Order: sequence, then structure tokens, then C-alpha cells
Amino acid sequence: FANQIKTDELSFTRGKTNKDKANRATVENVLDPRTMRFLQALTSRGVISDFNGCISTGKEANVYHAFAGYKQNQKKDKTGEEESPAPDSVENNAEEEEAPEERDEYAIKIYKTSILVFKDRERYVDGEFRFRKSRSQHNPRKMIKIWAEKEYRNLRRIYQSGVIPVPKPIEIKNNVLVMEFLNRGNGFASPRLRDYPYKDREEISYFYYNMIADIRLLYQICRLVHADLSEYNTIVHNGELYFIDVSQSVQPEHPMSLDFLRMDIKNVNLYFAKMGIDIFPERLIFQFTIS
Ligand code: ADP
Ligand code: MN
Repeated sequence: FANQIKTDELSFTRGKTNKDKANRATVENVLDPRTMRFLQALTSRGVISDFNGCISTGKEANVYHAFAGYKQNQKKDKTGEEESPAPDSVENNAEEEEAPEERDEYAIKIYKTSILVFKDRERYVDGEFRFRKSRSQHNPRKMIKIWAEKEYRNLRRIYQSGVIPVPKPIEIKNNVLVMEFLNRGNGFASPRLRDYPYKDREEISYFYYNMIADIRLLYQICRLVHADLSEYNTIVHNGELYFIDVSQSVQPEHPMSLDFLRMDIKNVNLYFAKMGIDIFPERLIFQFTIS
């Protein structure tokens, strides 16, 4: 399995890291010693196991693959069965050899901790924190922690609403966000909309209508504007659109929310127009904000 995801980064399961590796990780600004400690903590708490290769390397974050740890699998055993026999037999089943065949898979988004990235991000959106100058705003490490937490909270909010598909949020620990891994089996990630091989024109239209409906539901039910919506931040999973990358999402009360919303609609329209289908005029879609 591990071979199917390219391991071009430090592998956590390899055990002790030597100085060279640790330094390289610090240069990469992702798996620095502190981040490694958070991962270690998540592992020893049984949240994750088998930290694998890199799914994506981005400007602000890298995304890695991991399996659920014994804690999560236990939880699954307990809640998954209709009538589990005796609780202690479940405990016994959680032993290493008796691990369930179907293990949950996680995507671990690790925010980069470099000051360069921080500076770049500062220019960009900052939701509620933008106009509330706190001391942490001048501390890159704390800022990154806030962004990661913000993504987690936004994800949880959308997930709990049940109206728009998003990966299930699992844990947040500083700059490390653990969520459900959207896969299409055999360890492969589900494709982004950008890479999705459409069956026919009808399917393109179907996704377009869904996208527009989801933007509206996100606004009206979840009270959020994605603020970085595109074919890159949408994953097609089980025939449905999943929104990801919601760290910069803002509430309608944010002074820039309608500008962000307009941008989201513009991006989506541009993409689907490029795909050759008839799109609704931006201002028509925008109507729902005043209804
Ligand atoms: P970035 O800030 O780098 O854009 P994203 O949250 O968009 O971070 O994630 C980067 C990429 O990682 C996505 O385009 C997607 O391919 C992959 N990815 C992110 N989250 C998941 C997930 N939960 N399941 C599967 N793949 C994911
Ligand atoms: Mn993204």
C-alpha cells in the first residue's frame, strides 16, 4: 500500500530520525521537530498509525496519508456493530494481530511553519482575526495554529450541518489537521474536479448545478463563504462534490464576505464555461444573498 503513495518526504514510521533528516525537514518547514512531536502524540494516543507518504505539497501546507490508530478503530468497533457482545471482548479484538481488515484512512494536512509562508498569507484573507489585532497575530507559529484550527472548525461546522459533503474532521493539534481521507479504493485519492474524467456533458451540468446549490447552502445553512472555491478545492468522491481547503472561509458577517462570494462564483463559472456548458450569469446566482 505504502508504495502507491509516493514517499518523497520523511517517513514517520521509519522510527528514529537522524540529524540529517531532521535538518532537511526543518528546511522543508513542515516536519520540523515540533511537528514530529505532535505526530508522535497523535500516534501514542491512538488517533493515527502508519504515517505514510505525501499526497500533496502546497505553498502553505502538505497533505499526508495515514491510517487510523487503535483508538479510532476501537471506537469504530464499538459504534459500528449493532449489538456488540461484551465490551471486554472488543478490547481484546483490538490487539495488533486482530486488527480489522477495513481500517479508516486519514488525510493529514500539515501547515508549514515558515515565516515566509506566514508573510504571504498575511496579505490574504483572515476572517474574523483580520480586524482584531491580537498579540498572536505577530507570532507566525501562533498564527499558523489559528489557521489550522480555523480550517478544523469550518470543516466541523460544514460536516455537522450535513448538507454539503466534506471530509470528516478527526483531530486538530497545532499545525496538524487530521481528517477523513477521500479515496477511490486501493489507496488512491479521489480526484479533484480539475482532474475528474467526465462521462458526458450531462455529468458536467450535473456537477455545475450541484456546485451552485452547494455555494448557496454553504451560505444559507452553514453561514460560510468558502473564499477559495475552485476546481482545485473540490474533490469528486462517490459521485458527489466535496469541498476541501476551508481555512480561509468566512462568515457572512465578515466585511469582505460578499466579495469573496462573488469571486467563488466567478471562478466556478469560468471553469464550467471552459468545460463547454451554459452557465448562469454571476449576478443571477448572487441573488440568493438578498432573498
Ligand atoms: P492546499 O492549501 O495545499 O491547497 P488542500 O487542502 O487544498 O491544501 O489540499 C491539497 C490537496 O491534497 C488537494 O488538492 C487534494 O488533492 C489532497 N487532499 C486534501 N484533503 C484531502 C482529503 N481529505 N482526501 C483526499 N485528498 C485530499
Ligand atoms: Mn487547495
